[in-house]
Amino acid sequence: KLYNEVQDLKGNIRVYCRIRPFLPGQIQKQTTVEYIGENGDLVVANPSKHRKDSRKLFKFNKVFGPASTQEEVFIDTQPLIRSVLDGYNVCIFAYGQTGSGKTYTMSGPSISSTEEWGVNYRALNDLFQISQSRKSSIAYEVGVQMVEIYNEQVRDLLSSDSSRKRYPLIRGVLLHLKRFCFLNLHTLGIWNTTQPNGLAVPDASMHLVTSTADVLELMHIGLANRAVGATALNERSSRSHSVLTVHVRGVDLKTDTAMRGCLHLVDLAGSERVDRSEATGDRLREAQHINKSLSALGDVIFALAQKNAHVPYRNSKLTQVLQSSLGGQAKTLMFVQLNPDAQSFSETLSTLKFAERVS
Ligand code: ADP
Ligand code: MG
Repeated sequence: KLYNEVQDLKGNIRVYCRIRPFLPGQIQKQTTVEYIGENGDLVVANPSKHRKDSRKLFKFNKVFGPASTQEEVFIDTQPLIRSVLDGYNVCIFAYGQTGSGKTYTMSGPSISSTEEWGVNYRALNDLFQISQSRKSSIAYEVGVQMVEIYNEQVRDLLSSDSSRKRYPLIRGVLLHLKRFCFLNLHTLGIWNTTQPNGLAVPDASMHLVTSTADVLELMHIGLANRAVGATALNERSSRSHSVLTVHVRGVDLKTDTAMRGCLHLVDLAGSERVDRSEATGDRLREAQHINKSLSALGDVIFALAQKNAHVPYRNSKLTQVLQSSLGGQAKTLMFVQLNPDAQSFSETLSTLKFAERVS
């Protein structure tokens, strides 16, 4: 079958594909991505074969080529993000092998360059701007959580505990923020992070933010915490999922009615298959946990797309944490990230197969 439909997505699931450019200094520039069409078409060719059937067409809601900018990607994501202000739950995640541009799409290459900001900073920036412009009629409050899921365990990246040892200065800032937050959160009474069926990620601290600067501050802390324990050989960020959750509560000042929405921004662990004969010990365990959680995520989205009565949320920590933003009225967007390199062909194909399955 030459034609693979990843479009026509049932319900509220949308799939975008993004191909990262060849990197400066990369010598071999043989590509496996042959054609990037207008209407979400993508043709991938097996570089080692020259037969007609070595080419496969995949369809997405949208394909972003190597020259696409962060701004362009955001424009097509913005409506989804804004729906959070209307009370929707939204989940956006980036899927792909390590090095395919997941972090670039979600966060950008560095916090300092606003030009290259990824979806998450732009999203928060946008939410603040809109909430400012509506402030005469709706009062919004925004709370942020940031966790890492590693080996099926959730770690709070913004708790003062995890930053205590190595980042005393950061911790000071954090405690200051927290003190400020708790007053507000307490009076709001909706940011209950221990409530099992709430929108919040359980056991992770919630931080009230009022500006993009606040968010940047928190992200710095989160990233610093994430880096703890990472070594050059075993870069942890590619083996864990990072989940940034943005909670929005709006009160209509005329009618005094409240609504709330939540946005999960997820930078998934690398999807590459680990050679079982080579991986042992910790590395094997990590790989098994990643496989388990990514396939659980695939199963959940598959069940939702099929409109199955039973959605298997409980099979992994990742799907449990994201449950409120997957299914029901929630909207889901998956960025399928590809490395154009011919050497990545088999990983590219398995990434595309994952995408195809959830359509
Ligand atoms: P991942 O998070 O999937 O492991 P990264 O986001 O770290 O991958 O991307 C790998 C490298 O490619 C980084 O150096 C990143 O800056 C670069 N890169 C990724 N996507 C793009 C892009 N669209 N434009 C320019 N550079 C990119
Ligand atoms: Mg990354």
